[in-house]
Amino acid sequence: MAICRFSPSCDVFLDINDEGRLECVACRLDDRATFQAFDKQAMKAHLEEHVTAGHKVPDAVFEDLDQKAW
Ligand SMILES: [Zn+2]
Repeated sequence: MAICRFSPSCDVFLDINDEGRLECVACRLDDRATFQAFDKQAMKAHLEEHVTAGHKVPDAVFEDLDQKAW
């Protein structure tokens, strides 16, 4: 299940894999490798790195990470 996809307003593709783990797919911070986060806090920290790098990460993604119980 994709949480967000690449679009003009989004530079990250977040997914949840079969094990229920959050993934940053084709990560632009890591030469298009897939970053796996062990929990939501780790993914939020990772997304902050994207923002710091000037990438677009919609606010709604952070809100989803806060509010949804995956
Ligand atoms: Zn990433």
